[in-house]
Amino acid sequence: MSKFRPLAAFDQSGAAPYTLLPFRFTRLDRDRYVASNMAGEYAVLDRTTVEALVKHQLASDTNAYRDLASRHFLIDADSSVGRDLLALKVRTRLSRLSEFTGLHIFVVTLRCEHSCPYCQVSRQSMDTEAFDMTLNTANRALDLVFRSPAPHLKIEFQGGESLLNFPLIRHIIVRAKKINAAQGDRPLQFVIATNLALIDDEMLAFAKEHDILISTSLDGPADLHNCNRPRPGRDSYERTIAGIEKARRVLGHDRVGALMTTTKESLRQPRAIIDEYIRQGFDSIFLRPLSPYGFAVKTKSYAAYDVSSWLAFYFKGLSYIIELNRQGQRFVESYAAIILSKILTPFSSGYVDLGSPAGIGIGAVVYNYNGAVYASDEARMLAEMHDETFKLGDVHTASYEDIFLSDRLLDPLEESVALSVPMCSDCAFEPYCGADPVFHHATQGDYVGRKPTSAFCQRNMAIFRHLIRLMEDDPEVRLIFRSWASRG
Ligand code: SF4
Repeated sequence: MSKFRPLAAFDQSGAAPYTLLPFRFTRLDRDRYVASNMAGEYAVLDRTTVEALVKHQLASDTNAYRDLASRHFLIDADSSVGRDLLALKVRTRLSRLSEFTGLHIFVVTLRCEHSCPYCQVSRQSMDTEAFDMTLNTANRALDLVFRSPAPHLKIEFQGGESLLNFPLIRHIIVRAKKINAAQGDRPLQFVIATNLALIDDEMLAFAKEHDILISTSLDGPADLHNCNRPRPGRDSYERTIAGIEKARRVLGHDRVGALMTTTKESLRQPRAIIDEYIRQGFDSIFLRPLSPYGFAVKTKSYAAYDVSSWLAFYFKGLSYIIELNRQGQRFVESYAAIILSKILTPFSSGYVDLGSPAGIGIGAVVYNYNGAVYASDEARMLAEMHDETFKLGDVHTASYEDIFLSDRLLDPLEESVALSVPMCSDCAFEPYCGADPVFHHATQGDYVGRKPTSAFCQRNMAIFRHLIRLMEDDPEVRLIFRSWASRG
């Protein structure tokens, strides 16, 4: 790596031969450090190099010097180009902030015919139509959607089981397209999140006509899925698989995606879950932990495993997926892809939970069935537990400005700039991390939380370290991860 030279031997005048630009470093493992800067560039250094760098004693004819200069950790004393380039990269990284809210989630009903114990939205039984969104509420929410300055809009339908209120979905899509056409036709996308148990030909024909994406839930092989997702007849898996096949036939293979949730039963079988996704023709999987909201807390599913058990599951799954890629099977772990896009590209992924400031309200917003507006999906799940901290207003009574300039949004946003959060401000992983004020409020009682005991911090820090170590230690993994980063 680098040569260490005492200052006097390098520069007789004592003047620093280079200027350090802002960066932080954190121990990667016993012998190595990871350093990162505001643009998200990173370098892995040994202790000798770190010491030489910070003491302005790194020789300019070394690879380490050239590498650190090209990544904007230092600039030659007489150059300002590096500083300007760093500023440009930081601006590019933050440019998404000016776009404002692109994702608008409509909770069209809380009714559901499943009774999943880990459900995070406190679903209601089938016959309680009081939990359906009305036409009037949907229209008022649509007026707010089209006040957003975002250059791209996405409307996602959630539940409960969203298809139980399909007539309203149909109405919203037709009306949204009409308003959008009158406004000049911004790119507008629709997603229906559904368990697929109730999908029929008429719904699929409508989905085809309006180019709608389907997002479903698949927890793994039949035994696991049916155990996690009980419904009358215990046939959730069979209905989901039949629904996926049917939807792909009509809409096209790539128009159907799936998400899994990790329960205690899942922890033993990461390979079987991944194999199931491959068997069903998916080319990615998002290995997600349970969140501390809704039924997951009431039924104690959330407390059923700790961070280290989930991480062991995640790393086993990731290692299996890497092995598959080495053997020529292209398959992506989506959470790693999101993080890798932050590490390896100048662009921000827009993933709400890893936003800094947080993505709540400004990345995504939720219109609940009853007109309440929440800062995120997790915020409305929290509200189902009678905590309305992140309720931004009501579509029936509040204006766009009331909602998006409310202190209930601006306060957590201000406190969730990770750069200024205790511990995060010194952490080399901060450019890749976020703040998640809803999670910290739910688990620790304030927007910022205490990072040494935060499950969010423990989980993400372990993943950042693991991904960087894997890339540093194995050039083949680095190539695989580069290809994932472009999908993050
Ligand atoms: S939450 Fe943890 S991992 Fe993330 S920036 Fe803060 S200290 Fe680092």
